Amino acid sequence: MVNKAVKTMSIKGLIKSNIREIPDWPEKGVSFKDITPLLQDKEIFGRLIDELAKPYINKKIDKIIGIDARGFILASALAYKLKTGLTIVRKKGKLPFKTISKKYSLEYASNILEMHKDSILPGEKVIIVDDVLATGGTMEATVGLIKELKGKIIGIDFLIELNYLKGRKKLKGYKIKTLVNYKQ
Ligand code: AMP
Repeated sequence: MVNKAVKTMSIKGLIKSNIREIPDWPEKGVSFKDITPLLQDKEIFGRLIDELAKPYINKKIDKIIGIDARGFILASALAYKLKTGLTIVRKKGKLPFKTISKKYSLEYASNILEMHKDSILPGEKVIIVDDVLATGGTMEATVGLIKELKGKIIGIDFLIELNYLKGRKKLKGYKIKTLVNYKQ
């Protein structure tokens, strides 16, 4: 990507044109959205974090919540930009201290997500970030964990929404922002 084009194109256009689609990965029928080309470009990475941060400037957010594993990358840069703390949601068995956990369903299996018990204080204002909204199960479980700790969810942000999987249905009542959409 030529630098001049990066500076003048809309961030949404830039993101979409730099997502690498890998058909049938990690299994047949899945079109994997690889965000590493976005992260590798110093202009695009900075601009997409600025875009995610925009609605929350001066909103006194306490923490950004990042989901294992690509959500961590976005959440940590966003936390630095917004001068907030960072909390991580991990797959079962990775966190060393006392945890709370939630089970969620994938297409043919189930998984468990965990957070440290002390990672959000009651009433703290949080934003949750992940790379892709697909069926919504991962984010629904994360919302459940945050509610258990009595955090106040101000917004839920994704780079990419796979609209045809209707993940939003599982997140009714929350303010959701997605930067690029795939209708089919
Ligand atoms: P879901 O729980 O179905 O909404 O899946 C969301 C999680 O799975 C996110 O953490 C994504 O990183 C990952 N994911 C699901 N589908 C895809 C996809 N097509 N491409 C890349 N990541 C995906």
